[in-house]
Amino acid sequence: MIIVLLGPPGAGKGTQGELLAARLGIPKIATGDLFRAAVREGTPLGLEAKQFMDRGDLVPDSVILGILRDAIASPESARGAILDGAVRTVPQAEGLAEELASIGRRVDAVLLFEANHAELIRRLSSRTTCDVCQTPFRGLEPGTACPRGDGGRLIRRQDDEPEAIQNRLNVYEELTAPVVEWYDSHGIPVQRIDAIGEVTDVTARAAQALQSVQLAS
Ligand code: AMP
Repeated sequence: MIIVLLGPPGAGKGTQGELLAARLGIPKIATGDLFRAAVREGTPLGLEAKQFMDRGDLVPDSVILGILRDAIASPESARGAILDGAVRTVPQAEGLAEELASIGRRVDAVLLFEANHAELIRRLSSRTTCDVCQTPFRGLEPGTACPRGDGGRLIRRQDDEPEAIQNRLNVYEELTAPVVEWYDSHGIPVQRIDAIGEVTDVTARAAQALQSVQLAS
């Protein structure tokens, strides 16, 4: 099953993607995580991506499509994959659909995690992230040791600074929100998930939405 997770920054796609991937036994492909790893390793991809990420802008579609092509062709994705934040523009949705069609597959489900603007800003501005395991935490100051005990320290992501947060929300409205209509109008109804509340409750809502998609197919 190929599942696309959509939603504004701060809606919890990463956390929910992780939990759903574990439940379904398929990998989560998070382009943001791939880029952050590339930045840490100082690869050419990382150097290119960093300039866009730090401002909260999108990395060019051509770069994303190359990554998606490799990801869906990899043996780990044979049973499916959860694409977390990996489809953020209409050309990316179109390109992914073409890639999948060329190997006889398609996007099976699209989940849209929704939260109001004030909640998104509250979440993003109180978020710190472990510099080793990349797990996000809320309400813990930068410099704190990672609660997972992996030796990492919590840092504030450059794109969680106020100016970049506002830009990411604007970019979402302008370039990513139209992807929802694109899927709806291409026969893949978008399942809207209320992303407010306990993490486990949101996961249960998402799992239920996926079940209804499976039953309908
Ligand atoms: P995320 O961790 O999903 O919030 O992604 C962090 C940043 O990586 C985004 O703000 C973009 O700069 C970049 N990025 C990740 N995925 C994509 C994508 N599908 N298209 C364009 N840029 C992306």
